[in-house]
Amino acid sequence: MIVNNASTDVAVVVPAAGSGSRLGGRRKQFRHLGGAPLLVQTLRCFERHPEVEAIVVAGPPDDAGGEELAAELRDAGISKLYAVVRGGSTRQESVRQGVDATPASASILLIHDAVRPFVSADELSAVIAAVRHHGAAALASPATDTMRHGTTDGFFDTTVDRSTLFHVQTPQGFRREWIVDAFAQADRAGWDVTDDVELVMRTGRRVAIVEGSSRNIKITTPADWDLAEQLWYSWAEPTS
Ligand code: C5P
Repeated sequence: MIVNNASTDVAVVVPAAGSGSRLGGRRKQFRHLGGAPLLVQTLRCFERHPEVEAIVVAGPPDDAGGEELAAELRDAGISKLYAVVRGGSTRQESVRQGVDATPASASILLIHDAVRPFVSADELSAVIAAVRHHGAAALASPATDTMRHGTTDGFFDTTVDRSTLFHVQTPQGFRREWIVDAFAQADRAGWDVTDDVELVMRTGRRVAIVEGSSRNIKITTPADWDLAEQLWYSWAEPTS
């Protein structure tokens, strides 16, 4: 595998502090999928990518110091693990803690949900390349269903033109200064958003769309988990 020395400046922040309440039971990021915890499977996508140099995980807030989790991840072969930090009560806060802990040498920061283990190496390369070119980029898949508003009393309303609609996924990647600046502005203005693209766009910057696959699902509900288990061996990329 050829490692491009010019690009050893990429770090990834993986927020993994969610309670997984929509799935029930144990925090879903620690449940086993394909023989390893979901978080480990997701981290492996970055562990084996030649351009990613450092991995920062934002773990559960109740996990004191994160040392146990760090040891578990290193034992599972995540050698690029740089830090485990304590996440917050919102995803935004968890990402923020992770961004603060990245190595200062990393000029490109990717942010990727712990619960998206199907992202491919080609997709990661495409996002990194787009960040180098545009300053910010995120994976997204085009909407394929008919999209329609609903009324508050439970009936269909107007149809939305789906040709310009995307399901926004992760990784979302940014020049370090852009995402650091976005968090600083978010603090001042009290922004509370669901993803990092929104945060950076609110600072007036544009974020490029990188078209990815609808296989890059976010495992959120029990149905997602069933799908992931059934499709693991055909969708996941081989570990070596
Ligand atoms: O809750 P949601 O599905 O948006 O979670 C997306 C990702 O953000 C998951 O990997 C989850 O663990 C993480 N998260 C977090 N801290 C929170 C809430 C969610 O790191 N407080």
